[in-house]
Amino acid sequence: MKNLVVGAGLTGAVIAERLASKLGESVTVIEKESHLGGIYYDYFDGETSNLVHANHYNVLHTNIKYVWDYLNQFVEMKPFYFRPKAEIQGRPVSIPLCLTSLYEIFPNDFAKSFESKLISKYGYNNRITISDIHKNYDEDLKFLAEYFYENLFKPYTIKRWGVKEENIPPCSETLYPFFTGIDTRYYKDKYQAVPEDGWTKLIENMLKHKNIKLKLNTNFSDINADKYDRIFYTGSIDEFFDYKYGELQYRSVNIRTKNVLIDNAKPYHSYNTPVNFDFIRVNNYKYFTDNNENEKCTIGYEFIEDFKLGQNERIYPVHNNISNEIYNKYYQESLKYPNIKFIGRLGKFEYYETDMLVAEAINAVASLVVISENDDNNENRLGLENE
Ligand SMILES: Cc1cc2nc3c(=O)[nH]c(=O)nc-3n(C[C@H](O)[C@H](O)[C@H](O)COP(=O)(O)OP(=O)(O)OC[C@H]3O[C@@H](n4cnc5c(N)ncnc54)[C@H](O)[C@@H]3O)c2cc1C
Repeated sequence: MKNLVVGAGLTGAVIAERLASKLGESVTVIEKESHLGGIYYDYFDGETSNLVHANHYNVLHTNIKYVWDYLNQFVEMKPFYFRPKAEIQGRPVSIPLCLTSLYEIFPNDFAKSFESKLISKYGYNNRITISDIHKNYDEDLKFLAEYFYENLFKPYTIKRWGVKEENIPPCSETLYPFFTGIDTRYYKDKYQAVPEDGWTKLIENMLKHKNIKLKLNTNFSDINADKYDRIFYTGSIDEFFDYKYGELQYRSVNIRTKNVLIDNAKPYHSYNTPVNFDFIRVNNYKYFTDNNENEKCTIGYEFIEDFKLGQNERIYPVHNNISNEIYNKYYQESLKYPNIKFIGRLGKFEYYETDMLVAEAINAVASLVVISENDDNNENRLGLENE
């Protein structure tokens, strides 16, 4: 079988690696950019040697052991707990919100009173939402929900999605989480890490297989795809069909980096600014891998804007009625091409967390292998046994 993988992001890399090592098939990977990595492209800053994530920040968090084991084959994974802050009325506050956040915002007596009410109502260490807190008859808790709604959820949503205030769900429907505990880690999964030498290195190592041929600077539209038996397409599905049903909507991110002395940078992985400034957050890349003694941090100001074809990158899919309807038309059309699999965040017009995406890519190749009907060993189905 001759396989073509379009796109050298994480999805394309997993698929190519599995086809090459598990199935022993030949794979050509094409990538339109001059580098690997897709949205996970990262590089070492020339002045500071800090590892910079070019498009946001990228942290692996998962409870799926086979995904964890799989990625660990290719690079050293460095345990990492992501602890971002959001600026609320000028103060750095732990997000997602938790009991600790209360003490970062309010005077101690107030925080203590909110804390006791929340624990007696919801118990300790549970996940609830702003809407749950708002449903209370207790005036203090209602105030608390509205405070978070006005100072965090509402301005953040306006900035991130570029929507008007009247189109934002009311406080009573806000599903933003609140944890009735003191764990300030953003993710709660069992495995949390970043690749020591970066995601680009991880992807490069995945593609180092004798059965894989990699072609950078190569766009799908410029090649003859007829000579391949199977195609895995991780580019945008609307582009593949030449936008015949219209363009899918995305929000894009524009990051401006700067090197500053450690004392002049906020000491947080990421600092969200829902209310003030034009940027939505500032990421401090030094603290993700902490891989050098340099006295400077590389910080990235993250600006969010609408995606415009040819001008910026597709980052967050916008799931409104128009876009969903357009996507459905492309999806139906794609069913007419059984030898082409549309996969990954752009192929499926979906925001995937990394672990779900890796699992799906592993499964896509595993499903090509004939599986015994009685085989109930999940790891065997995934084609990961004895490796
Ligand atoms: C900004 C951002 C940050 C994220 N951070 C996290 C995180 O911290 N933790 C987490 O769990 N998940 C995160 N995710 C989820 C993320 O979507 C996945 O983890 C994953 O990296 C997406 O990989 P992909 O290969 O599907 O897409 P991409 O990385 O976008 O790869 C697609 C590749 O295809 C190439 N391509 C497109 N069209 C063509 C064409 N016509 N010809 C040739 N090549 C083409 C592109 O250049 C690109 O390299 C993040 C997502 C985004 C958008």
